[in-house]
Formats: sequence, C-alpha cells, structure tokens
Amino acid sequence: MRLHVPERESEPAAPAVAAALPQPHQLMQLQTTAGNQAVTAMLGRSARPLARAGANYAKTSPQAEMSGVLHKEVDLLNNAKAIVAWLRAKRGAPGTAVTVTAGQIVGDAALVKKLTPKPKEEGDVQPTLDLMVYYGVLKAGSSGFDGVLDKDTGDLDTARLDAATGEITALTKDFDERAAKKDSVDPVSMTGLLDQSLAAGAASEKKEDKAAEQALADVEAQLGEHVVLRTPDPKGKARPAITRVTVDKLPAAAPNAKGVDVIALPVAGAAKPVEVAADEVAGIEAVSSGASAETAKLRTALQAKLEKAKKRVARAQGYRTFAVEVVEFLERLRTRNTTWVGGTYPTHDWGEFSVDVFLNVGEDSAGFYKIGPTETFFDAIDATAQEDGKWGTFQWRAVYNDDRMIKTIGDKYGKRISKAPHHGPSPDKLHVHLDLRPDKLQPDATSGFHINQSGRVETL
Ligand SMILES: [Zn+2]
Repeated sequence: MRLHVPERESEPAAPAVAAALPQPHQLMQLQTTAGNQAVTAMLGRSARPLARAGANYAKTSPQAEMSGVLHKEVDLLNNAKAIVAWLRAKRGAPGTAVTVTAGQIVGDAALVKKLTPKPKEEGDVQPTLDLMVYYGVLKAGSSGFDGVLDKDTGDLDTARLDAATGEITALTKDFDERAAKKDSVDPVSMTGLLDQSLAAGAASEKKEDKAAEQALADVEAQLGEHVVLRTPDPKGKARPAITRVTVDKLPAAAPNAKGVDVIALPVAGAAKPVEVAADEVAGIEAVSSGASAETAKLRTALQAKLEKAKKRVARAQGYRTFAVEVVEFLERLRTRNTTWVGGTYPTHDWGEFSVDVFLNVGEDSAGFYKIGPTETFFDAIDATAQEDGKWGTFQWRAVYNDDRMIKTIGDKYGKRISKAPHHGPSPDKLHVHLDLRPDKLQPDATSGFHINQSGRVETL
C-alpha cells in the first residue's frame, strides 16, 4: 500500500512559489548603480530565471518523498520478477540462451498488465531493464538483452535480484510504518536534540526530561560499580554478595571495636562504609565483567533496566527531538532571531520535520502575536532557509491563522502560510506551526537506505 501522508494541520490549496519579477526598488537601485541600459538588458533577458523572492515552498514531506523513492524501486523489482517469470515460461530447456527486447515486452499485453507503471512505449521499460542488468539477470547483447544463466542450473540467475527484492520490500514496509507514526522518537531520519534553552515544553515535560536523564545516569553508574562476593556461612548457605561497591580493589582489613578484622566497603547510597568480616570476603569483581553467577544475574538485570531507561529518556526528550537538519536550521535561526522557542509531539504533521513555535513578542488586541516582530520572525525563517548551511538550503511552510500575516508574508515570499484550527487567535492555542526540510533530502542510516552511484536503492 502506498504511504498516504495526510496533512493534519495544513494543506494549502495551491502552493505557489512565484518567480517574482524584480521589485521596483530593486530596479531603481540597479539604475543608479548600473544605469538604464543594464536594467533594460536585464528585463529583456527572458531565458534567465529571475531570483526567487522567497525560499522554496515545502510541498512534499520528507517521509512522502523517501517513501516514493522506495516504492518506485519496489515497483521496478516487481516488474523484474514478472519479466523473469515470463522469460522462464517462454524459454526452452534449461541452458537455452534467452534474449529479450523492450519491444517484445511492450508487445505482450498480458505481461504489460503486470507491470507498474504500465509501459506504453519501449522507453518505459528501460528503468526495469536497467535494474535487471544491475542485478545481473540480463546483460546488454547485440540484439537486445541476453539472460545471464546460472552455471549449475542453466536457469536465469536471479539470486541477487531475489535478495534485494526481499530486503527492499521489507524496508519499505518498515519505513511506511514509522512514517505513519509521525513521531520524532521513532523517526525515518536521523534526529538530534534541540537545546533546552530553545525548546518549548510544559514544566512537566522539562521535569520528566531531567528525571529520565538522572535515572539513566544512575543505571549507567551501577553498571560501573563492583560486587564483593562472600563465602558461604558455616552451614554452607550462601551469603548474599554486597553490591553497589564503588571501589575496584578490596580495602585493607582492620580490627573493629570488638577486635574482629573487618573490611570497610564504600557503597553507593550508604551514608557510611559497610563493614564485612574479612574472613567472609571471597573477592571483588566488576559488575560489567564479573564471572560469578550473582554478578552475571545483576548485570543482566541492569542491562534490561538500561534499555528501559534509554527508552524513557528518548520519550521524555521527544518534545525537543527533531531531524538533525531541523536542529541545525533552528540553531542558525537563533543567530538571527531570539524571540521564539520550539517543540513537538508524536503524530505531528511531518514528524521530526515539524516544529511548533511560540513567540515571546506579546499579543495584540486581535489575540495574535504582535505584527511587527512576527513579520521579523518570518523574515528570519526565510533568510535561514535561503542560506546555504550545512544541509544546504531549506524549504518551509507554516500554519498560522492571522490573515494579516498570511498576506504580508505571502506578498513577500509567495503563499506559504495556511490556516487550521488551534493556531490562534488566543485563547485557541496561539502558536506558529512550521514544516522545514532541506531542498536536497539525504536518506541516512535511520531512513535505512541510500541511493548508490548506479542510482539503485541499497538498504543499510
Ligand atoms: Zn504543529
């Protein structure tokens, strides 16, 4: 099934990135610096694209774009499978040479029905043929494409094609499932954390963020501690080991008040050292590597706790988790404009590429953010998007219900702010929703694939 990415918050009817004509003031500037002739020449040069007024409009979500790439490849792999079955059916005994042309494929109505998209002319089959050559099923011959036969079976060699089909189909399913969650904690793209100081979060969210980090640090610390093993009691019953010992070597024994030799062990969480009779001590070992059954059991339990603690941290920090590209964008935005904080939540429009922004510029009588500083904020967004940063230039769009801002920004940069419930005015959740994405999207290890030099999808 194709991924459908419904735009919960926004779907402008006609995204328009107008290639704006030079503004009058720009022309006047040119006239003063370059003269009338230059301006006339510039206006007459119709072949040369004029500069855009704004950054590109963010039309397609990264999730939809990457899913589209994967589905296109799966279609070609399935086409290849259909062509292989067709070739096997029409070929003679094993070992018989087999040759096929694009014309023969397009000329077979039954086969054409099985292909996606249905080829109308020979050129339409080329992407599938290229893929079959890439996977070593066919090779270009003098009068078409020759089947590559397996030396042992005499059959078409589809080993690599079959393996890739399995892997890429499975990845596509997994990718679409993640994309549908729209959750920066289960993302389709590598994520990073926005610094606390830039993050919008409820007090409860920030509290849990901190508590979860402390809980994780505690489990990590316990994995770095030591266990002091004890000898069995005189009846042969095991004495429990002493855990949470914070030294890696046994301190020297010394007589206590009763004249018994004891070892004083520093133990995490204990106000004073724990004393153990020296003759009951069997040894000390690290939680991380100790060989005793007791330590191994403790280690297993702590490792399970560690996984849970990491998941808790990831969820607790979800409100400030964004695609690495978006984090970098917001950090650059901060150098231009400091009137905002940003946050997110699961099921948010474009997942890790969506940001809810709260401005600290004050409200006007209409219940919207004050016009002037809000325009300045959007100017900063557009300037950041047009800047060639670490991830290149960006596309953006927004949801915000202030008609005045929709017009002002639309006139400047092309229509890119749309309206939806709960985006102001106060008291209806006044905030600005932003969708941000790099112009050039780069699938990564979290996406689970890359496009190799031959243009093929490769799972990672
Ligand atoms: Zn939003």
